Amino acid sequence: MTGDGAPGFRSGFVTLVGRPNVGKSTLLNQLVGSKVAIVSDRPQTTRSEIRGVRTSDSSQIVLLDTPGIHKPRTLLGERTNQRAIGTLAEVDIVCLLVEANAPIGTGDRFIADVVARVDTPTVLVLNKTDAAGPDAIGEHLALASELGDFDAFVPLSALTGDGVPALVGELESRLPEGPLYYPAGMVTDQPETALAAELLREKLLGVAREELPHSITVTAEEIEPEREDGGFDDRRRRSPSLRGRPEEDEDGEPRHRGGDDDILRIRAVIRVERESQKGIVIGKGGRVLKEAGTRARQELEALLGVRVYLETRVKVERDWQRRAHALDRLGY
Ligand code: GDP
Ligand code: MG
Repeated sequence: MTGDGAPGFRSGFVTLVGRPNVGKSTLLNQLVGSKVAIVSDRPQTTRSEIRGVRTSDSSQIVLLDTPGIHKPRTLLGERTNQRAIGTLAEVDIVCLLVEANAPIGTGDRFIADVVARVDTPTVLVLNKTDAAGPDAIGEHLALASELGDFDAFVPLSALTGDGVPALVGELESRLPEGPLYYPAGMVTDQPETALAAELLREKLLGVAREELPHSITVTAEEIEPEREDGGFDDRRRRSPSLRGRPEEDEDGEPRHRGGDDDILRIRAVIRVERESQKGIVIGKGGRVLKEAGTRARQELEALLGVRVYLETRVKVERDWQRRAHALDRLGY
């Protein structure tokens, strides 16, 4: 289907930056056409870079969903920032997102100033046009143009998809000629376990109404049938997630999915900072955790096309965000 390395085929890396909540994860999912990043109306739900891949006959756009760049308050915030800034210089195009339905403020300016420090071509995306009138869109575009030197302006709605093809056009025209970096049907390089952990965290944030986002972290591992000791296995296993041909594994060997051993078994560990938060996560009679687990499992099954067994545990780990050791161990 594709021209790997064929003349005219364009490919490269694009990073999405912007204030928390501007819609980076929503846009990533819209561009990729599948849910690879969690979306929440609470700030900073996305902690790790998530790679989404959009492939067409003429191009491959590899997307990085960076966590929001912001004034750091904790060690986690500092590391998150450093990582986000580092990617700006390495990618082919930066997309700076601002909102059409909210004032452009100091948060946007802070990020625009960081973006201005690198030479990478930048596209200004004015998101959430569905929630703003035509006057507001024009006004916001004018204000946004004062944020820096941009190579293009694209108003769009990441939610409805309106205007997204125009963004794709702008990106494609700025990408260099290049190879296919990933197989054509692949939409993310995240392991299935990482998707499970992110989905479970998203569902917990949705189900537990209390202010928890900064205190929850979820890790997940595949339960290997041969491992009997029940210990915590920290290996970062890369399994082929969301490939175009799920019936084959990385080596092109058929995966025997459909039979009894075709259940993907995942053990998720939810870490909170205090005992009281543990209670909130679990809920009365385990209701909250059960509901979140069920929703995460269902979505994961739909996403991967396999049956999933999702085991959940909650652990209290005091002030994990501030403890570098814990951060290292959890992979931040
Ligand atoms: P992020 O923090 O930048 O990754 O933002 P998210 O993608 O998680 O979105 C934050 C919130 O904005 C969620 O409630 C989304 O549903 C909402 N949102 C994102 N894009 C749009 C859009 O185009 N229109 C509207 N009305 N809401 C949006
Ligand atoms: Mg996000």
